[in-house]
Amino acid sequence: MKGVVLTGHRTCEVRDFPEPSAGHGEVVIRIDATGICGSDLHVYRGDRDMGQIGGHEPCGTVVELGEGIVRLQEGDRVTVHHHHGCGVCEQCARGETVRCRYRHQVYGVGRPGSFAEYMAAGEANCIPLPEPLTFADGVCMACVGTTAYAALRRIEARAHETLAVFGLGPVGLSCVLVGKAMGLRVAGVDVIDERIELGAVCGADEVIDGREQGVVERILAFSRTPGIDRAEGVDCLVETSGATSAREWMIPSIRRNGRIAIVGVGDDDRVINPTEIHGKACTIIGSVVFSLGWSWDFARFLVESGMSFEPMVTHRFALEDAPEALATADSGRCGKVLIMP
Ligand SMILES: [Zn+2]
Ligand SMILES: [Zn+2]
Repeated sequence: MKGVVLTGHRTCEVRDFPEPSAGHGEVVIRIDATGICGSDLHVYRGDRDMGQIGGHEPCGTVVELGEGIVRLQEGDRVTVHHHHGCGVCEQCARGETVRCRYRHQVYGVGRPGSFAEYMAAGEANCIPLPEPLTFADGVCMACVGTTAYAALRRIEARAHETLAVFGLGPVGLSCVLVGKAMGLRVAGVDVIDERIELGAVCGADEVIDGREQGVVERILAFSRTPGIDRAEGVDCLVETSGATSAREWMIPSIRRNGRIAIVGVGDDDRVINPTEIHGKACTIIGSVVFSLGWSWDFARFLVESGMSFEPMVTHRFALEDAPEALATADSGRCGKVLIMP
């Protein structure tokens, strides 16, 4: 079968690999769609040849069952949580495979990934993808979409609150879509024309161009509930850009007692002032991926709410066109980029 290897220095290669077989407790999935994620781009822009198939946003159809399979059947549509654990330690028991100390592997990094026609995956990592959900939904459930859901859940975002999303890449756009589906009023901020447009396509109530002056003032004006309060700041804020300028806007944009999640990886500048945190009595948390249990919750959320990730998908490429797919995602002038093997 064909598989794509990230070879560093903004290159990748489509190579021939043997088809995987299902080990104990594993299934083989025919990959129907996979996505390019920001973390793939960190590798793509780096100088390492990964030497194995990349990609950690798999979804597709179960075609082979290994020994000891309990729940899955051939033909099941699934999406795959991208952090694989030992399955028996305390963290794995809590569904926090991302923190497994014994056998933590990420698809596409520690074990073969989803930029391929087939991939072997642990049964515990496979989350149902019922019929109303599309393969694009499945791709986003594997990583970026559930990361957004987890950030909003950790800051206890509630219906009819206000939310600001800094950065409208795939994670930020996911925050817009999920925030709207949760019933919040949402403002997005970005500095790339295509992403500003996509913010509106994904349902943001207001999209602010971060290149212009007065970003904080516009968020404060957006946060106001007429007849109730002055422009006091949003209740919830998710920072996905990693940019120093955006991080400087966080505390001035938040309401007293508001909640902020930092999701974006980026600059190391120290821009947060403890006196300002105290003054706003706000909560700031770091939010990194999600547990297996929350993947099940999010699958249920998508079916019950009728939400779809389709509005943020801007490009679909064949597996052989992976070099073009990666270059497109690298440009930033796009929403979610999919590869359809
Ligand atoms: Zn990812
Ligand atoms: Zn473990």
